[in-house]
Amino acid sequence: MRMSLITDQITRVALLGAATLTLGAAGCGSDDDADGGGQPAAGGGEPLEVVATTMQLQDFARQVGGEQVNVSGILGADNEPHEYEPTPSDAEALAAADVVLENGANLDDWLEDLLANAGGDAQRVTAAEGIELLPTEEEGFPGDPHIWHDPEAAKQMVDNIAAGLSAADPENAETYERNATAYKQDLDEMATQIRETFEPIPPQERKLITTHDAFGYFVRAYDLEQVGTVLPTVTTESEPSGQQVQQLVREIREQEVEAIFTEEAVDPSLERQIAEEAGAEVSSSLYADVLGGPDSGAETFIAAELANAQAMVTAWQGS
Ligand SMILES: [Zn+2]
Repeated sequence: MRMSLITDQITRVALLGAATLTLGAAGCGSDDDADGGGQPAAGGGEPLEVVATTMQLQDFARQVGGEQVNVSGILGADNEPHEYEPTPSDAEALAAADVVLENGANLDDWLEDLLANAGGDAQRVTAAEGIELLPTEEEGFPGDPHIWHDPEAAKQMVDNIAAGLSAADPENAETYERNATAYKQDLDEMATQIRETFEPIPPQERKLITTHDAFGYFVRAYDLEQVGTVLPTVTTESEPSGQQVQQLVREIREQEVEAIFTEEAVDPSLERQIAEEAGAEVSSSLYADVLGGPDSGAETFIAAELANAQAMVTAWQGS
């Protein structure tokens, strides 16, 4: 919150062309007044206040919104979306937001109660809108919510965000459209680069075992094989039964899987135990539901996806 307020102030002062900035001159009081009405920032040159749940959405919003938006995130690098418990400061951010971005498909369904409590009149954008979900047997889910791992779905998410920002701030619609087009090109290049990264590995050797069932779209997009998951679900909430663990160990041995991947933001102890039992390696962490924190080298969506592909290839080639 504090950082975003300061960024907001810096942007505003820069727009006014002021030569100097002191914190005293850019006090929080004036900012609160400016945001007090909760009105969209159309026309005033003030950035739109955008609150986004997941880190993927936060990055997409920054790419599409550029300098016209001030993005605050709810989830950080240590927050699993499936298990997140909202805080009072989340409600404050939502109450002051012009636009709220959610993944949808029940990934961030806790937003519903949070919005009801926070009030405010933000434009709500569901990034999953119009995306055909992979089926899941998980109860309570309309389909697999990890849509961003499919580059085509990621582009649709970007379009949905651009449309939402434009609806809240029609004066800058052309800018949002232009930024979205440029970023979608970057996403195409990312997908090409990931396919090239996988090229030396024959498809039958691209065997993936991950913590939870988060890579269904990635597996489909890049021609991999998901042999199994340590947690038997699309969420990170449930523990596998002893029987499920034994089944997985058998499968790892039978299919000669060499590496089990852990995930950022999830405790890897169960992966270690299963790897040991099955005689496989535990490989480096993947960015499943979060992006990397500061100085990780995976702070953006594109960097995180490239890091995932590289981690997989490194593990597969190491065998
Ligand atoms: Zn997940």
